[in-house]
This record gives sequence, structure tokens and C-alpha cells, in this order.
Amino acid sequence: MNYISTRGNAPAVTASQAIINGIAPDGGLYVPESWPELKLDWNSLKNQTYEEIATIIFDAFFDDFSVEEVDKVISEAYGSQWQSNDIVNYHNEGDLVYLELFHGPTLSFKDIALQALPHLMTIAAKKLEIVDKMVILTATSGDTGTAAMSGFGDVDRTDIMVFYPEIGVSDIQRRQMQSESAKNAHVFAIKGNFDDAQRSVKKLLADSDLVNNLKDNHMRFSSANSINIGRLVPQIVYYIHAYAKLLKHNEISAGELINIVVPTGNFGNILAAYYASQIGLPVNQFVVASNENNVLTDFFNTGKYNRQREFKVTNAPAMDILISSNLERLIYFLSGRDSDEVVSYMRSLDETGTYQVNEKTYANMAQFVAGFATRESVSEEIKEVFDQTGYTIDPHTAVGHNVYKQVTLNGKTILAATASPFKFSETVLTALGRQSQNGYDGVEQLSEYIKSEIPKQISELFERAIIHTQVIESEQMLSVLRHSLIN
Ligand SMILES: *Cc1c(COP(=O)(O)O)cnc(C)c1O
Repeated sequence: MNYISTRGNAPAVTASQAIINGIAPDGGLYVPESWPELKLDWNSLKNQTYEEIATIIFDAFFDDFSVEEVDKVISEAYGSQWQSNDIVNYHNEGDLVYLELFHGPTLSFKDIALQALPHLMTIAAKKLEIVDKMVILTATSGDTGTAAMSGFGDVDRTDIMVFYPEIGVSDIQRRQMQSESAKNAHVFAIKGNFDDAQRSVKKLLADSDLVNNLKDNHMRFSSANSINIGRLVPQIVYYIHAYAKLLKHNEISAGELINIVVPTGNFGNILAAYYASQIGLPVNQFVVASNENNVLTDFFNTGKYNRQREFKVTNAPAMDILISSNLERLIYFLSGRDSDEVVSYMRSLDETGTYQVNEKTYANMAQFVAGFATRESVSEEIKEVFDQTGYTIDPHTAVGHNVYKQVTLNGKTILAATASPFKFSETVLTALGRQSQNGYDGVEQLSEYIKSEIPKQISELFERAIIHTQVIESEQMLSVLRHSLIN
């Protein structure tokens, strides 16, 4: 199974090559040339482990990897670094099922893919006889950076550089980044917001002098961003797992349609749910939940994408984003795999900041419904869910829950719970009407109040030394990069 570009002007490549390239040379994103024919057998899936289901999905999408290679990736990615034997956990609330994706080393769903990606990349590089060192360059609003460092930390032949905004990350996220001890990790805070950091990283990636300079030093850039198929595919697994477990516990009958609500930023996690549906997961509605950066809400309601708006720093910061990269893949499929159409939209986005999909493509979007939650409603949602059910959700999951209440859905619904509430202790405490404290005091206070044990990943975090404290202007990114990697 090969991967082709959404923009139709790049050669088809193997999965390994797509993982190494990240983005296609024509600027498009890699999509499977055709969907793998899996014939998912729910009767056997319902008794399989997370790792077994992951093996089926990885084998299908990474078909140039041998059985042994896939096994190796999965055993490395889903081992003792997880606090749950099943990797994911479930919490039921009537017709709603929280799919807890945050039991990995850095307490967000991004661990699920980023624990696998370094191993996928290492094997892919070996297959392609690439001897260059991979430089993973990331701008992060908090979760990607920590998850990427946890995945790539001390992995042979890789360097990881993380730039995060000085303002807007949570206390725990900052501590996770500042205390990363891997020798190949380089971490800097940037004056400005996430958008500024992101823009500067894109500039660096496109700087041909820099790229040549790296090449001369046997290095090359690679991406841990969710545009990489090595991040997307591991996220398909938990949707299949969730359906299988619902069946096992007789919550649904085989073939019954479910709904999936996902708090969304770059459209990666919800796109994985769409991919799952394309290979046989029975889905009724996909619910796209946004915060006040509600480009996607408007898009799904009108067919017009308009990034010409103010960037807002919200209390669900991992979703503060105005360009949702992975949406290009959905449009590719909904347009009937029409690359020319995709190219015309992306050109318009580049030139004017907007595009309007045609009627046919818009009609194909009917399976997606969208809504958004304000900062206030995020807080209220955390409190309401806690008061009514005793369950504590993080601000991103709260966005999902708020939007879940706004829409009308039939049948079972899975809500992707994307981060641990402990990762956003200040926001959660404030929402619960408590005096919020910083640092470990805040974590302890939250733990006592919600009667939930402090995750081991957090208590260990406060035993680590602070290493990376440098704050730089975004103009200095090029020089710190050169200094960290080349000199
Ligand atoms: C990254 C992130 C999101 C958004 O996920 P996308 O795949 O970018 O849509 C939501 N919640 C949390 C906690 C995140 O870290």
C-alpha cells in the first residue's frame, strides 16, 4: 500500500518513506492510495488486547514493515511506561463513554502516537539506508513538545528541539519541558504566543541554507507534527479498541453506529477516527469540538474556512490554533480524492486566508457536526461534571463535553478525553472554585479535593532537576539551533 500526496503532484511512496518525509514534496499530506481491506472481525477483536489490535492496524498501514518490525515498535511503544495495562481507560456516564487517552508518560493523548513514532522512524531510516541524524523540530503549545521528548529522548541518531511559548503553557507542562534530561533534547521558551513559535519553526524548516548546512553535517529535519502518518495511524487503534470493548461489555450490538466527540486543534485525533470509519468502524456522527479559536466550527457550519481572525489564548491551550493542517486530508477524501480541488483551496488559504468548499464537497461533510466552548463554559463544564458525577475532566475534555451537550446525538457516544486534569491543575482548581496554587501544592490540593491519587508521572516530575531555563526572542531561534546542533 503506497502513500500519495493530497495535492497530486508528488511520487507515490512507501509507508517508510512517508514517515521519513513527513510532508510530501509538493506541500501536500500523505494519504493511503486506497484503504486497506481489513474485514474487522469484531467477535475476535472484542477479546484482543490493545497491543494485538495495534498490531492489526500497524500491519495494514505500514505494510512495508515486517511482522517482526511491527512487533518491536509495539512492544517498545506500549510497555511499562503506561500507567494502565490496557493503555487506555474507560469511564462510563450513561450513553457517554469517556475514552481516557492520557495514561502515558506525559499525561496527554499525544503519548499514544509519540511513544511509537521514534521507533517507526528509526526502522524506516534503516530500511531506506539513511545515515543522517534526524532533527525533530517542534513548536509546541505544551503537549506535543513534552510527548515528543519523552518519545525521542535518548533515541539513537536523533536530536529533538522544542520551542514553546513563554506564556500560555501550564505549570506542569513548563516543568515537564524544563526538566527534560535526555541528552539529545534542546528546549527553549519563546517570547510570544504559540502562533509566533509555529511561524518561526516553519521558516526554519524552509530555510534552504540551514537545510544544506545540516546536510553537510549529516543531519536532516524531520517532523513529529500530527501531519506525519506515523502519528496518525497509531491513533486509529484506540477507536477500534473502544468499539471492541463496548461490544465485549454488551453496551452495543455488532454493527451498531456510535458517535465520536473529539476536542480538536490540528484535526489529527478526529481524522484518525474518520480513518477508523473508513476501514470498518461503524460511526454515525463525528463531533468536532473547538475552543474560542473556532475556525472549524464555522467551517463545518458554512463550508467556508476563514483564518482571518484574532488568535485567542484560552484555557484549553493545546487547541489554540487557526490553521488546522490535517483538515486538508479530510477535504481530499470528501472531494472524492480530487487533488486539483484541494490545491485550489490551499492556494486560496495561502493567498487570502480563506477558502469556500464547493456544494458537492460540502454535502459530503454531513457526517461531521461542530460546535465550540468559550473559556467560561470550559470552567463551568469542569465544575458541573464534577458536581453531578464526581468525575474530573481536564479543560480540553471539557470543551468536548460542552459541545456534546450542544448537539443532538442518537445512541452511544465516545468522547476522547485528551489530557489528565492534573496536567492543568490551576485551571481545574479554579474551575472547581478553589484557590489555585502553583507547583506541587496545587497538585496535592487537587488530589485531595477530587479524591484521586496523584499520577506517578507528576510526583516524579517534581523530583527532577530544572535544566532548561533559556527564554529567547523568536529571531534568535536560528542561532540557538545552529549552536545546539552544529557547534
Ligand atoms: C493536541 C491536543 C488536542 C488537539 O488534538 P488535535 O489532534 O491537534 O486535534 C486536544 N487536547 C489535548 C490535551 C491536546 O494535547
